[in-house]
Amino acid sequence: MLPLKFIKEYLLIEAILILLFIIGIYYSTRYAWWRREVDELFPRILMYHMISSHKDGAKFNKLRVTPENFEEQIKYLSEQGWHSFTVTELIEQGDNLPKKSIAITLDDGYEDNFTTALPILKKYNFKATLYLVVDRFNNDWSIHRKRSNLTGELKREVKISNRQVKEMLQSKLIEIGAHSMTHKNFHKLTLDKTKEEIEKSKIEIEKKFDTECKSFAYPFGFYKDNDWKLVQKLGFSSAVTTDKGISNFKEANKFLLNRITISGTDNFLAFSLKLKTGKRGLNK
Ligand SMILES: [Zn+2]
Repeated sequence: MLPLKFIKEYLLIEAILILLFIIGIYYSTRYAWWRREVDELFPRILMYHMISSHKDGAKFNKLRVTPENFEEQIKYLSEQGWHSFTVTELIEQGDNLPKKSIAITLDDGYEDNFTTALPILKKYNFKATLYLVVDRFNNDWSIHRKRSNLTGELKREVKISNRQVKEMLQSKLIEIGAHSMTHKNFHKLTLDKTKEEIEKSKIEIEKKFDTECKSFAYPFGFYKDNDWKLVQKLGFSSAVTTDKGISNFKEANKFLLNRITISGTDNFLAFSLKLKTGKRGLNK
């Protein structure tokens, strides 16, 4: 019989091994280092919302990428030789699209896109597509997703003014895409109402900003089966979803493009994994 001392040591080693195993599983689902890198021939479309510091106790800090993190990310992309395009340019490049192509997208139209993101984009000569909600002032669209979102947090967030949008355009780095008139949940709209939300937003943006509006982003990333056909018919050349990942650009439906979600809680490891594989962990 083994002395008690050895049995105790054996049990301790076993406990440590089990613990290491559990930690390993946890980190491997959180950071999917094992996922295959997506071919660099396929462009990455990154999705951002606000570029601002986090607010204490706020529900939507995931939508706030800090200015420091945003600059670190853009600097990294620039240093690693990624070629920056607007979403419409990605489409227009067709077969001439170089390896390592990337499009930065900013959803909704927050003022910090002008005050904070634009100076950083200018510094690194990076482009972006701004998906603008036309009726974005005093509009609490987060409740169309979940009733529990009734805190007014996003409603209170200062939105980009039309004059600031014009200045964004003058920088020649920014494309204005449409993100509907009012940011409704398309699952809850009739086909006629959906059409109106898409069509009117394109017309309004083109009229207000004297620019061509060729790309669309579905509000909340929600779309019905045939909504993409509507977007195509109304004269857009592309549309982005919030379906996570990197589309195979050779075969993908250009009206249902995936995006990589950049969250305000992503650390640099998460960002670099997302850039390689489209997601950080199992499904984020
Ligand atoms: Zn949105």
